[in-house]
Amino acid sequence: MSARLRESSAARLLATPRLQHDQAQAALAASFSVTAISAPGELLDRASLPLFGIGGLDLREQAHALAEQLTNGLCLSPDRRHHRALLIDHALTHRSAHPLQIAVIGHELARRAGVASFVGICEGEPWTVVRGDGEMALVGPAALAGRPGAGAVRPRCAHQIARAVLAELGAAAPPDSARRAERLMAALPCGGGGCRRRRPSDP
Ligand SMILES: [Zn+2]
Repeated sequence: MSARLRESSAARLLATPRLQHDQAQAALAASFSVTAISAPGELLDRASLPLFGIGGLDLREQAHALAEQLTNGLCLSPDRRHHRALLIDHALTHRSAHPLQIAVIGHELARRAGVASFVGICEGEPWTVVRGDGEMALVGPAALAGRPGAGAVRPRCAHQIARAVLAELGAAAPPDSARRAERLMAALPCGGGGCRRRRPSDP
């Protein structure tokens, strides 16, 4: 598939409502690298296998198991310097991941393991947020220090996280990719407010 075709199919996918984070990030990976669009999902499926069964644990144990898998299973370490760490395929295979990708990966592992979660922003940083009965826990790799409490967490839809990733790519990637990032941003259907006015109880 040509770069132009990969970009236009990514743009179509990014425009769909109720997009999942893994679909959005796979679309970005497929348009910025030569990764097959199915590859990130397959890697996430495999990475979630050790977590099967944690759905029955309490919130704190679920959060701990997820953090453990991000830190020691996938060995993800936060990387804000290299633009390729903004792509989920690179993050999953090279272990250096932008915090936005770590939050997406944590959420997608939780979702596959049957744990209620979302991607949220708290104190300006992206987190995987696991939620239980009236409580929440922020999850990230152990390398992310100074974890805040889950007080003021704002849920972010897949379009909003894709927009944040594209904005960073636009600023950090080589000119060709930066222009592609700008074009793909224009394909996103929702702006700053997000398309899913989620209550914390929604999946
Ligand atoms: Zn949206």
